[in-house]
Amino acid sequence: MCGIAGVFNVPQSQNFVAELLFSIQHRGQESCGIAVRNVQGNIFGYKGMGLVKNVITESVLSRFDGPVAIGHVRYPTAGKSDEMNSQPHVIELPEGPHLAICSNGDIINYYELRTWLETEYHFTFKSDNDGELIGRLIAFYLLHKKKPIEQAIAEAQKQLKGAFSAVLIYRDMMFGFRDPHGYRPYVIGSLNPPDEKGEYISDGIVLASESCAFGIVGAKLVREMQPGEIIRLEKGKPLTTVSVNAGKKQHCIFELIYFSRPDTVVFGEKVYDVRKKIGMQLAEYDKSMKLDENCVVMAVPDSSNFVALGYAKGSGVDFDMGLLRNHYVGRTFTKPDQKQRDEGVRHKFNPLPEFFEGKRVFLIDDSIVRGTTLRKIVRMLRNAGAKEVHIRIGSPRVIGSCYYGIDTPSKEELIAAQKSDAEICKYLNADTLKYTEVADFAKILHRSKDFCYACFNLKYQYKPEDFHSKTNRPE
Ligand code: SF4
Repeated sequence: MCGIAGVFNVPQSQNFVAELLFSIQHRGQESCGIAVRNVQGNIFGYKGMGLVKNVITESVLSRFDGPVAIGHVRYPTAGKSDEMNSQPHVIELPEGPHLAICSNGDIINYYELRTWLETEYHFTFKSDNDGELIGRLIAFYLLHKKKPIEQAIAEAQKQLKGAFSAVLIYRDMMFGFRDPHGYRPYVIGSLNPPDEKGEYISDGIVLASESCAFGIVGAKLVREMQPGEIIRLEKGKPLTTVSVNAGKKQHCIFELIYFSRPDTVVFGEKVYDVRKKIGMQLAEYDKSMKLDENCVVMAVPDSSNFVALGYAKGSGVDFDMGLLRNHYVGRTFTKPDQKQRDEGVRHKFNPLPEFFEGKRVFLIDDSIVRGTTLRKIVRMLRNAGAKEVHIRIGSPRVIGSCYYGIDTPSKEELIAAQKSDAEICKYLNADTLKYTEVADFAKILHRSKDFCYACFNLKYQYKPEDFHSKTNRPE
């Protein structure tokens, strides 16, 4: 996962991009960056390790001044955890001025395409990041095949396999494009109202991974970028769809369960609404349980809050907030290694004992990956006096890795791939454990067939081995 943003033809566009990135910080906390095109046509980039507020500071922003800017927050799924792999990438072109690009997702045939560009066409890479590969592939079609930029993007889009939502600055234009399956979210907003014909002019268009970013800059959601769509923004001209190379839709269901902010609208769904419906569906499974006034519903905050509210509504059991979260600790799942994740859990959650003494707790979490975090939380609740702990999970059992931009560990580390429900329940020291089932999403979503559930049912659109490599990165 990562987050991208772009702003077209707005004075001081760098400030808008910084605000957009701040709103989608939850999509990646490891590094961030911006690239700005000034009125002379030069592109300048700045990136660094850390949060937006610490990297893209006011003093950094004051060094830029341009009407077109893009930005990125990174959460590493492939490629090393270092500054070289942060985005955006500014790709030098002999003709100058250069192009700048950033993307969200994972390219499955990364290794094959990079090797091909390096060996056949002597391209030099500065990072092992997908965004750079996409940029250099487009540069290949511009330089070696003499394609116009629109066709260069379309050719690259056809060749790339996997998930990508990308934004690119080239000359005085900006392009947004997305993989044909629409794995990762991508939305178009505007700072200006449409004209009398209902069309949006490129000036004032903002692009972002999530619609929750638009409010802070005063933009309104125009629509979602279509899977496989390429859009072009040009000064004074309408927002234009260049082409649409759509495949079977494969929106990531985990975006709705966990990653996206509850105030985002994505894949045609309101995230908070979907989460509440998941909770109500989970409550259906407990219709035969004897629930009394000693029961209480609690969420593992914050991503499970709305699922817990839905469960409370569906079951008639009171929702309470006895497990408090320290908001100055980031999302543990987006920390790059297990040690950092373990430290994060200890610092992150604190139970209020008076909420738990003698209670039958229905603890709602969004998912179980390794099970280590949840096990520690159950121990906290038991130590705080909980009589029973019933775990309800907002996702199905995670039994496979993700190859499309989410850093799920290998199958060996996924507890649901290794143990039965009863064994997991015992490992967690819970009284009962129930999951949302894949089939439930047919009742919850408007178009459930448009989603990817591969980490739950192993029905992958494609895997790295389809491209003859064990890893999609060079050793
Ligand atoms: S495999 Fe899972 S996490 Fe990855 S895109 Fe599909 S649903 Fe999302």
